[in-house]
Parts: sequence; C-alpha cells; structure tokens
Amino acid sequence: MSANGTHAQLSGACLCGAVSVRVRPTRPELHACHCEMCRTWTGVALVEIDVAPKDFEASGPIKRFTSSDWAERAWCDACGTTLWYKLTIPGREHFAVSAGLFPDAGNFPLTKEIYIDRKPAGYAFAGDHLRQTKQQFEASLASASQGETQ
Ligand SMILES: [Zn+2]
Ligand SMILES: [Zn+2]
Repeated sequence: MSANGTHAQLSGACLCGAVSVRVRPTRPELHACHCEMCRTWTGVALVEIDVAPKDFEASGPIKRFTSSDWAERAWCDACGTTLWYKLTIPGREHFAVSAGLFPDAGNFPLTKEIYIDRKPAGYAFAGDHLRQTKQQFEASLASASQGETQ
C-alpha cells in the first residue's frame, strides 16, 4: 500500500514536554516488538508507529544509543521517555516512533507483532493480526532488502 501523505499529521511529546515530535504515519497502524532489547528498554514491548524520514520532525533534548549495527534508540534526556527506534541502514532509514507519545496512540489498531516467540508467556496483546517469530520477521527483512523497502 502506498499511502504516503494521506494520513493526518500527529503531534506528540515526552513525559516532561521538553521533546516534541510531529509525524505523518506511513500507515494508520500500530506494530509491537517483543525482542529482548525492546522489552528491556520499555518494560513490556515497543508499540510503535512507522514513519518515513521525510515525514518526521522532532525537537528537544534528544539522546541516542546505538543499540546494534543497524539501529539506534532515542530518549528524552530530561525525563527518559522512550522516543523512537530508528533503522539506520543507508537507503532504508525509517523511524518506529513510540505510540505512547501520541494521544490515544493515534487511535490506530494494532496490526502486527514481531519477535512473538520472545514474548514472555505471562501476558499477550488481544486481537487477530499478524504475529511473526524472530525467524519469520528476519526473513521478511532479508527479502525486503532485495526489493522495495517497507
Ligand atoms: Zn522529556
Ligand atoms: Zn524490538
């Protein structure tokens, strides 16, 4: 689906208000990642909204941590709020912006969970949507890198 520019801009902020973000989501959808890093970083899972670099603006005291060879994670230096995960592979950059920054998470539905096989058994998100294991998700990334980026 090519929907760039068709979704309304969302404005959000961190807990203390020092960081503000303005984004135009690629799709009106929430995605959740249950990988070990996202769980350590957020407490449960990173629930995020995908945004292309051209549709992304942020200002404030932003700190970044290079969490792998292909990604960085950003937070507010004043209050510690999780801001976004950014894929940094040249030509494939995109932001996975924390849904918690936006009122009612944009009112978007959860449509995908990844690293579902890394999720602890003690909780689960409800709903009938795509759930990918680590292996399935990484295979989809590898095939995407040969053609269109997602
Ligand atoms: Zn803050
Ligand atoms: Zn993750």
